[in-house]
Amino acid sequence: MENIIAIPAFNDNYIWLLRHGDRAAVVDPGIAAPVLAHLAGHGLTLAAIFLTHHHGDHSGGVADLLANYPVPVYGPASESIAGVDHPLHDGDRVTLPDLDIDLTVLDVGGHTRGHIAYYGASVLFCGDTLFAGGCGRIFEGTAAQMWRSLSRLAALPPETKVYCAHEYTQANLRFALAVEPDNAALQARAREVAELRSDCLPTVPSSIGVELATNPFLRSNSATVVASATRFRGNPVVGEEAVFAAIREWKNSF
Ligand code: ZN
Ligand code: FE
Repeated sequence: MENIIAIPAFNDNYIWLLRHGDRAAVVDPGIAAPVLAHLAGHGLTLAAIFLTHHHGDHSGGVADLLANYPVPVYGPASESIAGVDHPLHDGDRVTLPDLDIDLTVLDVGGHTRGHIAYYGASVLFCGDTLFAGGCGRIFEGTAAQMWRSLSRLAALPPETKVYCAHEYTQANLRFALAVEPDNAALQARAREVAELRSDCLPTVPSSIGVELATNPFLRSNSATVVASATRFRGNPVVGEEAVFAAIREWKNSF
């Protein structure tokens, strides 16, 4: 999995293309056209599709891709997504030697109830669960579920590269600075990200280590994050999950 390419889609989505020789897999193809163009332009054949959750901006391109390449489609067993013929559960492993892919499935529900992530070879594809500097909205699950999911991802090795599905980093870091203005690593990251974005460059992949140091949704143990959660609620907020829930709610209206 040495070759992972970002295919931009819509306003701020990334479709990740995993290339091995002249074969490729894609993660969360919300639309087929840019994927088909990339495959044709680079002489690649599509060999597999991976989905993290059912939202259209992640799965909308599946039918058109299948019309061109009848390939296996992996996705969460607990969500019904047209085209998925390899439903996956927590702990399942997908091994595709032809693509140099060996990924383990993590149940990370919360954004959607059945959201999954794929992890292997120091790489994480986490869809809309963990973002660079932020996390997904809780549309279907509960704050407790999302907190458990993010905690699982936070426990991965710090060098793990985080391939999330949206370029939301700059807005996320604006919020992060409101939560934790005294975090020097966060201030430095915000400057780096501003520079990348002013050159229209991607700010992902991130890494678990960077997220642990700067992402307020993984930092419920920081005194400043606790104080910000308490200020938002107007009452003392006790416990890491409750701090996370308060910060997530604040972000919804930020
Ligand atoms: Zn989504
Ligand atoms: Fe999305």
